Formats: sequence, structure tokens, C-alpha cells
Amino acid sequence: MRMFSLEGKTAIVTGARTGIGRGIAEGLAEAGCDIVGAGHAPMPETEAYITGLGRKFRFYDIDLVKQDGIQALVDTTIREFGKVDILVNNAGIIRRNDFLDFPEKDWDDVISMNLKSLFVLSQAVARNMRDNGGGKIINIASMLSFQGGIRVVSYTASKSGVAGMTKLMANELAKYNIQVNAIAPGYIDTNNTAALVSDPKRSAEILGRIPAGRWGKPQDMKGAAVFLASSASDYVNGHILAVDGGWLAR
Ligand code: NAP
Repeated sequence: MRMFSLEGKTAIVTGARTGIGRGIAEGLAEAGCDIVGAGHAPMPETEAYITGLGRKFRFYDIDLVKQDGIQALVDTTIREFGKVDILVNNAGIIRRNDFLDFPEKDWDDVISMNLKSLFVLSQAVARNMRDNGGGKIINIASMLSFQGGIRVVSYTASKSGVAGMTKLMANELAKYNIQVNAIAPGYIDTNNTAALVSDPKRSAEILGRIPAGRWGKPQDMKGAAVFLASSASDYVNGHILAVDGGWLAR
């Protein structure tokens, strides 16, 4: 199992306070990784779990709707941990409205958070990875990297963009021994999907299409994340791995 070990590695995980980011941060720590949790509110539960495993955890306070603090996040991580081995671009937001009524601000905020911050942070981290001989970048895509969705135009645009950027970064960064892949979660019970879970009609429609017969949990992402963060995936590059209980196969 040594090829899956993350002992001695450092990961930046954005949005590690709740949901999928928390599940992934905890999974990477279980595999031996130290974690910098980047987000705009403290994450005491994530911190307690990770330090309880004997791993280091550092909360870094940053609003990722804007890009102005991103270089400082990377510089601080390098100063305190020596390098960045793994980046998980997880933090993301969603806004819902009919296409004809969709406000421009909800377009701008979602694109800035889900797409532009991912670009700026990945670029800053990849420069460090290049100088250190390699690394792993994991982007969090979506079923809406493959499908259109409804009432979430900026989210669909952003997650389709994440899929394209994953492939572009994989192409350009492979020569530096940096592998860039994405996880595309299916329907996972988190704050992001609370509006769907609490709508009995939509919830039943969604559940009816999931072959696994249940909504996903953040913990369901751990295995894919450890695989894509570890040397077990050294020849996997530019792949978008659906962790969706079979949704896309339906
Ligand atoms: P979530 O619990 O709402 O997680 C989103 C995370 O992003 C939270 O930790 C949140 O921090 C952080 N965040 C939001 N705005 C931020 C900002 N301005 N600056 C810094 N951090 C910010 O929902 P989730 O479902 O786990 O979402 C995580 C990722 O998975 C997102 O990229 C989402 O698009 C993607 N995804 C989710 C699903 C699903 O079914 N749930 C499916 C496919 C993809 P706070 O909690 O402190 O605001």
C-alpha cells in the first residue's frame, strides 16, 4: 500500500471547513498528509480531526471570490511547510435562478470563485511544484462538467471550464512531473445541494437516477482523492474521475 502513502507531503485544500473539502482533507490526512485548509471561516472540526491523527493542520483565512490574497497563501505555505506537494481546488459556490432572470452578479461571483481563483492558485502552486520536481493538482469538477443542468448557468459554465482547464494544465505541466486530474462528484449531500435535498420532488427525481440508490457523502470522495494525490496515479493525467454512484452511466 506504500504507493498510496502521503507521509511527508503537504496539501493545500480550499474550502476544507465543510462538505467535500472537509472529507477530502480528512482523507488525505488519514493517508499521512499535513493540511493547509484555506477558506473564509475557521474550521475547528476539520482541524481537530486532522491534529487528532497526529498530522499538522493550518487554517489560512482567505476569501477566494477575490484573487488578491492567493500568492500570500502559497508563500505562507512554502515558508511554514517547505513546499506544496498537493493542491485540491475544492472551494466553490452555486447560484440558482432561471436563465432569463439570472443576475449578472451571480454570473461574476461564481466564475470568479470557481474558475478564476482556481487558475490563479493553480498557477502559483504549479510554479513551486515545478521548482521542487513535481506535484499533484486535483480539481473538483461536477456532473455539470458533462451535462447542462437547469437554473445554474454560471455554475455549469464554471464546471465545464474546470474540465477544460484540467486537461490544459495536464498537457502543459506534465513535463514538470505535475499530474492534474479532477474528481467529478455526483449528487452529494452538502450545503451546496441543500436546496435540492429539501425539495421533495427534485430530491426524488435525483435519487431515482442514481444506480447506487443513495445520495453521496463527502467521505465517498476520500478514496479517489488519495489515489489522485499519491504516486499510485503517476501515469494518470488530465482525467476527470466521476464519483457519482453511477449517475453518468444511467
Ligand atoms: P459546501 O459544503 O458549501 O463547500 C464549499 C466550500 O467552499 C465551503 O467550505 C465554503 O466555506 C468554501 N467557500 C465558499 N465560498 C468561499 C469563499 N469566498 N472563499 C473561500 N472559501 C469559500 O459544498 P460542497 O458540496 O462540499 O462543495 C465543494 C465543491 O464540490 C464545490 O466546488 C462544488 O461545486 C463541488 N461539487 C459539489 C457537489 C455536490 O453534490 N455537493 C457536486 C459536484 C461538485 P464556508 O462553508 O466557510 O462558506
